[in-house]
Amino acid sequence: MLRRFHPYFRHLKSNRSTLFAAIFYGLLFGVTSGLGLPVLIKYVFPPIFDRQDPPLAAATVWLIVASVPVIFLLRAVSGYLNSYYVQLTGVRILEGVRLDYFRKLQWLPLSFLQRKASGDLISRGMADTAQLQFTLSLLANDGIKQPMQLLGALGFLLWQAFTTDGALLVLVCLAVVPLTVLPVHYVGKKIVKRAAQMQSQLGDVSSHFLENLSAAREVRAFGLESREIDRFGEAAGRLVTAQMKIVKYAQALTPAIEILSALGIAVTLLFAYRAGVKWDTFLAVITALYLCYEPIKKIGYLNSELNRGAASVDRLETVLNEPLAITDPAQPVPVTKLRGHIAFEDVTFAYGDSPALQKVSASIPAGTVCALVGPSGAGKSTFANLVPRFFEAGAGAVTIDGIDVRAMKLADLRRNIALVSQEPVLFNDTIYNNLALGAATASREEILAAARLAHAHEFILKLPQGYDTVVGERGALLSGGQKQRIAIARAFLRHAPILILDEATSALDSDSEAAVQDALRRLVTGRTVLIIAHRFSTIRDASMILVLDHGKIVAQGDHASLYAGNALYKSLYDRQQGAV
Ligand code: ADP
Repeated sequence: MLRRFHPYFRHLKSNRSTLFAAIFYGLLFGVTSGLGLPVLIKYVFPPIFDRQDPPLAAATVWLIVASVPVIFLLRAVSGYLNSYYVQLTGVRILEGVRLDYFRKLQWLPLSFLQRKASGDLISRGMADTAQLQFTLSLLANDGIKQPMQLLGALGFLLWQAFTTDGALLVLVCLAVVPLTVLPVHYVGKKIVKRAAQMQSQLGDVSSHFLENLSAAREVRAFGLESREIDRFGEAAGRLVTAQMKIVKYAQALTPAIEILSALGIAVTLLFAYRAGVKWDTFLAVITALYLCYEPIKKIGYLNSELNRGAASVDRLETVLNEPLAITDPAQPVPVTKLRGHIAFEDVTFAYGDSPALQKVSASIPAGTVCALVGPSGAGKSTFANLVPRFFEAGAGAVTIDGIDVRAMKLADLRRNIALVSQEPVLFNDTIYNNLALGAATASREEILAAARLAHAHEFILKLPQGYDTVVGERGALLSGGQKQRIAIARAFLRHAPILILDEATSALDSDSEAAVQDALRRLVTGRTVLIIAHRFSTIRDASMILVLDHGKIVAQGDHASLYAGNALYKSLYDRQQGAV
């Protein structure tokens, strides 16, 4: 069980001194509480009660009296320091694990991220790391303190067994101790599975939150409020059920151990009476016994938390151990600036079992504006996504300038590609920083020049703080056309020979439309461009058109020849013209 947590203790290495402090104070705490109290009762207090002749020296009385606060002070201070340092190491582990998790998310293939609900992935990064931190802190905390207290108390009992008359009594008490371990074991086993269920329900609840918030407009537009509340209510209800299953077992542990302890004390009383054991021996033994049960109780709780932690580790590791399907090659071909001749050679690709491209071959010379046309679901986006290696061809090869994209470093490949997507994503930052994304070395002049080329400069200057205006989450404060122009300016700044353009499906207002079209016309000049075309106005200008259907290229040519010679193209075109 403990081995499950081993990889995460790695994060402790950089915090070795705090961990050692935690362990030291934990040891001190254990000894002062497990051994200290019984020793006081048995050996230090009796002279106070047995009238002695001659009476005790004043100094001795003071010493005895002072021993109580001293022992408790030691216990309190060491307990406090132990907890403090344990928490400190705990939050540092948490930070480390969360960073690892986040780092991993940056590199995971898109196909993995699409398979998982974002809410679930967030929940793993927040709730499961928090559970892991709690478990590890508890382990570092009670994992030292409690066994030490138990050892201290057991040590005292054993010592008594060999040195006092009530040896039998002590041995009986000792016999009861192992019995209390039984419920600990039973409960622990019950908890593992239920903990995993609970964390997954928690992920479900987060997913609902996220989905609902990102569809806020749709919910209002379609009047889905009560449906959403019901769906959320169901998920929340399932979480409650899962939580209560854990509570049921975890909470039964303490009473079970207490009842067994009470039985132990009852038996001890009986033996004490029969054996005529003295009061101070009895009291010391009972105290030591109590000090044994307490750690067993806490170790039991620790054990159930370890099980919950193990469930969280499993959930984290599903992500952390997910192989990075798309990585740099071992010996990358050195690439600086590509010219941009894209070729597909018998490329086949499937999302899981459903094929999206079948044996596709195409050659797009450098500097060509190539439009991908076809009905929805034909494979246009998939085709374009294979070029920057967002996905990996299942068979065949995608090459640029004759170099397989898999033979280049990802960073080299992607540096040569600019992307303008349908709905450009802006980060909640200033316009300036949003423009500068992906062009870390660009000067202010270059950024302003790119904004001018993209027809963005004019509207940016009209914003309240100009280039320093913060755009809101996902660029909420900008219109669709403005976001498009920011994306185009970003693409200018990349100076990439290849451009992938996912055309916006929805028409923009006519002012924006004209500005965007003009900016795009400037942007495509001199680059190899793949346009995922939704509107035919752009397509007519393309020097090459690939018509896709059901994952295959069914025709290729320019507008005039395709319109005359390809029925699918003609029907798609006529339908669009009719629709406008
Ligand atoms: P287009 O861009 O022409 O509309 P796509 O390339 O997006 O077509 O999709 C091609 C096929 O692959 C479609 O049948 C679509 O349903 C499927 N597909 C696309 N993306 C995914 C995905 N992430 N997971 C599973 N199937 C997908």
